[in-house]
Amino acid sequence: MEGMVTTAANPTAIEAIDLIKDYGQGDTAVHALRGVNVRFEQGKFTAIMGPSGSGKSTLMHTLAGLDSATSGRIIFDGADITKMNDNQLTLLRRHKIGFIFQSFNLLPMFSAEQNILMPLTLAGEKPDRRWFRQLVETLGLKDRLNHRPNELSGGQQQRVAIARALIAKPSLVFADEPTGNLDSVSSAEVLSFLKRSVKELGQTIIMVTHDAVAASYADRAIVFADGRIVADVPHPNAEQMNELLMAERERATRAAI
Ligand code: ADP
Repeated sequence: MEGMVTTAANPTAIEAIDLIKDYGQGDTAVHALRGVNVRFEQGKFTAIMGPSGSGKSTLMHTLAGLDSATSGRIIFDGADITKMNDNQLTLLRRHKIGFIFQSFNLLPMFSAEQNILMPLTLAGEKPDRRWFRQLVETLGLKDRLNHRPNELSGGQQQRVAIARALIAKPSLVFADEPTGNLDSVSSAEVLSFLKRSVKELGQTIIMVTHDAVAASYADRAIVFADGRIVADVPHPNAEQMNELLMAERERATRAAI
């Protein structure tokens, strides 16, 4: 019926409630997150954008339990991770969260296959070979498994890093400027794979990027400014995101003079 379209929302992957993060105290305190409320759905690819210093990394680090919150709650897998101790957070990260970095962070002495399996090797766990094969095929790495990182292109190295982030089947993957060190062809390739891993493998990805083209691969883009969410855009396109970012920059410049 017209006007009666119900969109069943996916279950929540992670949610921040009234999240505040201050660095330092008193007059010199930096308010990196000023009461952020945001819910990320399972099986979705979300881009986080915004000017440098707006709080993107702080949000990612607090959601991943790498940095503590000043106040507020972070609900992940039914528990409030702001209440967890370091041991609990380490276990949570090891088993449920994958990371993809701008600089790939592969171990140079190990083959692509060994790098992909490293999180399981470190945890003393056996890989699910079917999942390994599926990842390697999806990422087009089948013929590269015995190569060391320096024998691979930047794009291939980042695909190895993606496979490594997904090998333990984390419920959540954080990507920090994953295409920051790649040329535009490799970037497009890596972003397509991230998109596919969401669509075909059901992964949940939260990606920090300042590239509007990168954000256009996501299902949703959130824009940060000065510790707050100032826009939340479904199905973002690059032009629209560039306009939003430019408007935000102008607003910030006007506010500063
Ligand atoms: P973005 O990722 O959007 O560039 P950040 O989250 O890194 O922004 O930073 C948000 C604000 O918090 C900035 O003003 C930054 O200088 C400050 N900040 C980040 N990390 C620290 C820290 N460890 N100590 C003090 N201030 C910090």
